[in-house]
Amino acid sequence: MKTPKIRELGEAIRALVGGPYTTKYPYEQTPMAKEFRGILKCDSEKCMGCGACIEVCPADSRKLEDDKKKETRKIIYYSDKCIFCGQCEAACPSEALKHINEFDLANVTRDDYTEVVEKALVFCEKCGKTISTKQHLLWIADKVGELAYSNPTLWIPLTRELNIVEHDKTNAYPYRSGHIVMLCPDCRRETWLHETWGY
Ligand code: SF4
Ligand code: SF4
Repeated sequence: MKTPKIRELGEAIRALVGGPYTTKYPYEQTPMAKEFRGILKCDSEKCMGCGACIEVCPADSRKLEDDKKKETRKIIYYSDKCIFCGQCEAACPSEALKHINEFDLANVTRDDYTEVVEKALVFCEKCGKTISTKQHLLWIADKVGELAYSNPTLWIPLTRELNIVEHDKTNAYPYRSGHIVMLCPDCRRETWLHETWGY
């Protein structure tokens, strides 16, 4: 047996006093740096289904699916395709996305790598086109404050949410009926030009 070098003896003494350098992973999580960009978590309450994260995702790991029949929008996240670039977290206006400090993504089936958030959709009452999700419109109304009352597409869901008015499904509005309905931007422009200015 060779005589141990001074450096190795030093290492052995340091390990005896301070404990080993290795961790007991997977029984204990390896401590990561504070800045480490790990697993992407989505707060489904905060997510409003705006789709901004899908626009910026370079890896196609986020998808948006609108179901007109069920009147819902699905935001789907495939974590097995994610490259952890952080673009979606930076673009999310409601701060629903967060990369946490953990990295263990091991799962049993491929389905376990798919996460879905579902939100109620709102449609244009004139042409039937999708406007956005109800939660997104309420979020915008909250952000713009009293300015929301200048746009019926914002104040109608807001007043319905606050239970101030009931949804009149007969569309028998008493005054300027074409204006005071939920409209997509194209129909809103057309209605204003037609009903206000006669174009
Ligand atoms: S971290 Fe990057 S790759 Fe992953 S979902 Fe977000 S934008 Fe897409
Ligand atoms: S709120 Fe955030 S997570 Fe939800 S769809 Fe919009 S950008 Fe994506």
